[in-house]
Amino acid sequence: MSRLVMKFGGSSVADIERIRNVARHVKREVDAGHEVAVVVSAMSGKTNELVGWCRDAAPLHDAREYDAVVASGEQVTAGLLAITLEGMGVNARSWQGWQLPIYTSNAHASARIEDINGAELIKRFKERKEVAVVTGFQGMHKATGRITTLGRGGSDTSAVAIAAAIKADRCDIYTDVDGVYTTDPRVVPRANRMEKIAFEEMLEMASLGAKVMQVRSIELAMVHNVRVFVRSSFDKPEDIDPHLNQPPGTLICDESEIMEQQVVTGIAFSKDEAQISIRHVPDKPGVAAAIFGPLAENNINVDMIVQNVSADGKTTDLTFTVPAADYVRANDVIVKSKDAIGYDHLDSSTDVAKVSVIGIGMRSHAGVAASAFKALSEKQINIRAITTSEIKFSLLIDAAYTELAVRTLHSLYGLDK
Ligand code: ADP
Ligand code: ASP
Ligand code: MG
Repeated sequence: MSRLVMKFGGSSVADIERIRNVARHVKREVDAGHEVAVVVSAMSGKTNELVGWCRDAAPLHDAREYDAVVASGEQVTAGLLAITLEGMGVNARSWQGWQLPIYTSNAHASARIEDINGAELIKRFKERKEVAVVTGFQGMHKATGRITTLGRGGSDTSAVAIAAAIKADRCDIYTDVDGVYTTDPRVVPRANRMEKIAFEEMLEMASLGAKVMQVRSIELAMVHNVRVFVRSSFDKPEDIDPHLNQPPGTLICDESEIMEQQVVTGIAFSKDEAQISIRHVPDKPGVAAAIFGPLAENNINVDMIVQNVSADGKTTDLTFTVPAADYVRANDVIVKSKDAIGYDHLDSSTDVAKVSVIGIGMRSHAGVAASAFKALSEKQINIRAITTSEIKFSLLIDAAYTELAVRTLHSLYGLDK
């Protein structure tokens, strides 16, 4: 007997028919004798709709009320799944974040899970063979008693946190693809599914744009060593024998479990970036502080930074990127600091994309990035900025070339089928 967390994303619970399909997956594991906690997302499109309603009500709204609204999507699916399971003769009940409770920080709309009480769930597994159907994406701030949400894609994080809290043997993430691919399979049909990927690589993939898993879910899995298995909810429940090997999927696990390590394991990309170039800034000490200090004070995260070598020894150009959502604010901050910085003018663009190449093998291989520069130049793709770290490098390019760049790099590193 194992204890499992089964998480189902929005497209897996998109309507009653799919919820029935989910219930059959759950029943299969319950019938096999496993103790099961299910975590559900809102029906696909629902959270977007709720977010849109908040904006329509008032563009600048109280984040605590935003959370009260957007957390409701998961409440609906948890209840519907519990009803469906009961109808199939499976003992089940729904749990909202505040009922368990799942305590979080007070950072409304992007709260962090701080503590989960798993004792009641375990007691009910033992005493009543009861399946727990838990709302993903939400929790509660203890001191204020208010509902919080964990940021978009947060149900992945709920699932991993619950798996850690109830000491589950495995956390299965059921989604609309049958695993983690070398890059987004919707963009590169020749992408390959990976059998296994190391936590660190998945963390980079997720934070650099692969939205198949929320970043924080991987941070948590790494800290608590939760084995996460990404798989498809569209596999027919009846075709799966829970006692045999699992159907295709990707295991996200510790690096030590992976025998064959490629130099490059995946390519991620993000169009959620904006570039700001400050022209003719004085080339003297204190200027970087004058630029990045005010951005930090305004909670704007700066990602890539490139400073040109000054040609005349007097002025230089400085380029950096910020999340597209912060672009207008960032521009504003720089314009307001114009006197303190002393630049000539700004050149900014939201039509940029960041393409990243990820692989633990880069630690011990030189020249991986150099071959990318050559391959992209052969396609006439201009690189605007570069950042590197131990196991990845990222390139900022014109957004129009994103797909071409991803496909070019995907073949370059031998990731095509
Ligand atoms: P869910 O609603 O189940 O949480 P998401 O839409 O959040 O599902 O995540 C699944 C999607 O992630 C896939 O449909 C796919 O387009 C996208 N994706 C991006 N990068 C990858 C990748 N490297 N491997 C698999 N899927 C990816
Ligand atoms: N429903 C939430 C969202 O769409 C959380 C999730 O699906 O993981 O972001
Ligand atoms: Mg998701």
